[in-house]
Amino acid sequence: MQTRTLVESLSEVRARIAAAAERGGRGADDVDLVVVTKGHPESTVEAVLQAGVRDVGENRLGELVKKSESFQGLDIRWHMVGRLQRRKAPGARGIVHLLHSLDSMKLAERLERTASTGDVALRVLAQVNVTGEEAKGGFSPAELEEGMERLLQLETLRVEGLMTMAPLTHDEGLLREAFRSLRILNDNLRARFEEYEGTQLSMGMSNDFEIAVEEGSTIVRIGTAVLGERPE
Ligand SMILES: *Cc1c(COP(=O)(O)O)cnc(C)c1O
Repeated sequence: MQTRTLVESLSEVRARIAAAAERGGRGADDVDLVVVTKGHPESTVEAVLQAGVRDVGENRLGELVKKSESFQGLDIRWHMVGRLQRRKAPGARGIVHLLHSLDSMKLAERLERTASTGDVALRVLAQVNVTGEEAKGGFSPAELEEGMERLLQLETLRVEGLMTMAPLTHDEGLLREAFRSLRILNDNLRARFEEYEGTQLSMGMSNDFEIAVEEGSTIVRIGTAVLGERPE
């Protein structure tokens, strides 16, 4: 970190989350902050922990596993926010606190098939590509509505909510629209599937988290705004 300390930027981000939650008629406690440490060294993870953060996110399973081994025994909740390759899927169990990026039925089936008896259910969020961008992963809203019944049958997964990544834009209207679509989709799924909890909406990153929180986010995933630019 260059000019500001981690503690300062963390408290600034928390204050911005709290203000946005209030504007949306909620409280600061309704939104969890996951600090995304991808690309940062273990010394940064250590500093983040020192600053009192318990929810840490990574976008590659290999890096997550390596870091989790270095900080074994500490009270950390590891969030997997990036694409999980199917062949690596079994490695997430027992380490990942919440998988934000369940992006296909195939991945879900793979996770179910490779579970061992006695495994506790893996907590997951279904990632939704609400804007239909080509390059972006995730279920389309229609695919998710179609697949939800099956997802809820899988005994070794627990679908707690939805996640989305908004388009890369500073257009506030487009961002708001994307987050709102995710919330409405979640409401529809809750109305339709009694077994679906749908208590979590993981949306909001450094450049859009305030809008996401105003629109109902319960988990924001923030790297740069807290840690500065990622090292090369
Ligand atoms: C990197 C990443 C983030 C954090 O991004 P920042 O812009 O640094 O806040 C959040 N979510 C996902 C899925 C990511 O890959």
